[in-house]
Amino acid sequence: MKKIALITGISGQDGAYLAELLLKKNYKVIGTDRRSARGINWRLRRLGIENKIIYEDMELGEIYEIQRVFKKHKINEVYNLAAQSFVGTSFSSPLNTSNITGLGALRILETIRNIDPKIKFYQASSSEMYGDILEKKQNEKTPFNPQSPYAISKVFGHYITQNYRDSYKIFAVSGILFNHESPLRGEEFVTRKIVIGLIKVLKGDLKVLELGNIQAKRDWGYAKEYVEAMWKMLQQKKPEDYVVATGKTYSIKYFIDQTLKNLNIKGKWIGKGLNERLIDLKNNSTIIKINPKLFRPTDVNILQGNFNKARKKLHWRPKVGLNELIKIMVQEELKHYDKL
Ligand code: NDP
Ligand code: GDP
Repeated sequence: MKKIALITGISGQDGAYLAELLLKKNYKVIGTDRRSARGINWRLRRLGIENKIIYEDMELGEIYEIQRVFKKHKINEVYNLAAQSFVGTSFSSPLNTSNITGLGALRILETIRNIDPKIKFYQASSSEMYGDILEKKQNEKTPFNPQSPYAISKVFGHYITQNYRDSYKIFAVSGILFNHESPLRGEEFVTRKIVIGLIKVLKGDLKVLELGNIQAKRDWGYAKEYVEAMWKMLQQKKPEDYVVATGKTYSIKYFIDQTLKNLNIKGKWIGKGLNERLIDLKNNSTIIKINPKLFRPTDVNILQGNFNKARKKLHWRPKVGLNELIKIMVQEELKHYDKL
């Protein structure tokens, strides 16, 4: 008998890579999306798995839609990846973010409790929960200090998952994943925005790329490797939470410099603070400048994970470092750029 996995947020970056992994492991994969997303799923198409998934409509705000899907299929594992996942948008849509990113997890857990408490549940927790960090390297025991409606909603999802595990003995776990990127990353996130923006500059399709706080530092890994950790968490004897990270941290500015190298653009930073900009040495034109409107009301300045527990118990470790990740992102983007 094939195991049946349900992935919420199948149309997103992680949903696509996780579906690919589970199909390879011979799972039957049910992917839920919102009706609006149907037919435009470029990520699943790019991985060549668009026709291998059973699709169900499931808006995470509607508990009746969730119940319908859980009654229809005999599900073994649920991966809750759906969310309003962009920190920036959570400041302009805090109520929707809380409803989907926070309460969405509870709607699924309640459905599991009522329909079949043997279903295993994975919650996509986030390093953003550490926010204004209270420890230099963050592990499973580091206290949270969230700095955005998104992060606060994720803290709710995290604790309610823990509570359903403790109260009802459901196999429910959270993976506290640090930022993970890939050629399938949403264009609003800074890494893909930089890669696409600088390619547009190179091709003459954009004059200046505007960014916000480029001093911020993140622990960036490769999404394709991170979904393996999600699966491993649900195969353990005991349900526990895990940090998934690389243990290294780099600034947005470093990410830009590496992207420039991959594109053979020779640039020079001049100015300070809001006046800082990047000059293309080929013709002395400004190709990156700071737009204060892109700063967040409160930002997370630095994140750096400690994934010792995942290394020891899941035998998981990251293999792709940041420089290689940037190379992968640039090469894939160039390959597809002219087809856009
Ligand atoms: P994406 O933004 O790429 O995907 C989010 C998914 O959620 C999309 O499929 C989206 O569907 C779906 N979704 C949004 N709103 C709803 C809704 N109301 N009802 C149903 N589905 C909805 O995120 P990622 O793949 O990058 O991330 C996966 C999960 O991991 C998210 O929960 C994210 O917050 C979390 N996470 C991600 C990290 C990262 O670095 N990538 C780090 C830590 C946590 P649609 O296509 O219709 O918009
Ligand atoms: P996040 O860690 O989930 O918020 O991932 P993002 O990729 O959206 O942002 C990472 C960091 O880059 C944050 O500190 C942002 O403030 C910073 N940043 C600077 N300029 C930009 C920009 O133009 N877009 C985005 N998305 N982030 C930016």
